[in-house]
Order: sequence, then structure tokens, then C-alpha cells
Amino acid sequence: MTTRIQPMIEEAPLLARVTEMAAQIAPRLEPEPIILGLFKGGFVFTADLMRALSRHGVRPRMDFMVLSSYGKGMESSGEVRVKLDCSEDLNGRQVLLLDDILDSGNTLAFAVAHLRARGAREVLTAVLLDKPERRQVAFHADYVGFTIPNAFVVGYGIDYAERFRELPYVAVVTQTDGP
Ligand code: 5GP
Ligand code: MG
Repeated sequence: MTTRIQPMIEEAPLLARVTEMAAQIAPRLEPEPIILGLFKGGFVFTADLMRALSRHGVRPRMDFMVLSSYGKGMESSGEVRVKLDCSEDLNGRQVLLLDDILDSGNTLAFAVAHLRARGAREVLTAVLLDKPERRQVAFHADYVGFTIPNAFVVGYGIDYAERFRELPYVAVVTQTDGP
């Protein structure tokens, strides 16, 4: 099997869209919201959006959570668990929850319910990529960077078996037979 990487969204349009998203999101935020990124896939999007929001005067507390949806390779299962919880006190706080990809919807639906159960007053969600064709639970993100078709993507923090997170662009992975 040969793994091929084909660029889908280049670095310049990615950063331009993140800048636009920050301009859309900033007016909805309190001066000191909690920005919560989901590790690992959401870390590059979180880092770029955080810095774009700072240009609009947003002074967040930053934190991260690790969730696992059991399953390896290209498919996830519906069961989500907290591997590392947010360490901030969420009572009465506004949270901006960030993830790389909205796919089945299980991860973000679980995360929003979890944060509200921990006392968050409002949870806004933003994802870099949305694959609406793959939805299993009704979930809409408040902000979406790019709507993409059902393809397995990597780069800009997103991996395939822990590879390709370092790519500065989003790419499609395909497996082909042969060398
Ligand atoms: P959901 O719970 O919405 O199905 O899953 C969202 C998570 O699945 C994302 O945070 C991401 O970790 C993973 N995921 C969904 N689509 C892809 C993809 O194309 N590539 C990679 N590497 N992960 C994906
Ligand atoms: Mg993820």
C-alpha cells in the first residue's frame, strides 16, 4: 500500500479563513472567555485562531481537553470519553470550544454536554472543517471554517496514525495498491 497526500486547502486560504472567523467570533465573546482546544487534532487551529482573536482584543484563558473516541485508523466509534479534563473552573463562564473536524458529531455533542454539566454558562463551538455528510447526531457548530466532502484529511494538526500533523496545509490521504 502506498499513502498519497494531495493538498486540499493551502496555507494562505487557511490562514485567511481563520482571520475571517476571528472577526466573526470576536463580537460574540466576553473580554475574558475560556478558549478550550481539543487535543491533539485541534491544536494548530486553536493556536492560530487564538492569535487572530487577540487582534480583536480577546484576552482568553487558554486550556485544552483530550477526548478519545474509541477506534483506530480512519473510523471512530460513537463512544466518547474524557482522557484529560479542562482544569479551569467553568462555573458561569463562557467557553469557546475548538476542534479540527466536525464529522459524526459525537465528539462535540459530548464535549458541549460535558462542559455544560461542569457549569459553563455558554458554550460556543468553532471547527476548522465540517463534513456534514457524515453526521450521526444532530449537531451544528456555531462557526465553520470550510465545509468539505467526505474524505480523510491530514495536516494543520490533523494526523493519520500520528503522521502528517506538521503539514502547514490540509491534504487528502489516499491509499493505493502498488509501490
Ligand atoms: P466526530 O466525533 O465528529 O465523528 O469526530 C470528530 C473527530 O474525528 C475529529 O476531531 C477528528 O479527530 C476525527 N476525524 C474526523 N474526520 C477525520 C479526518 O478526515 N482525518 C482525521 N485525521 N481525523 C478525523
Ligand atoms: Mg479530534
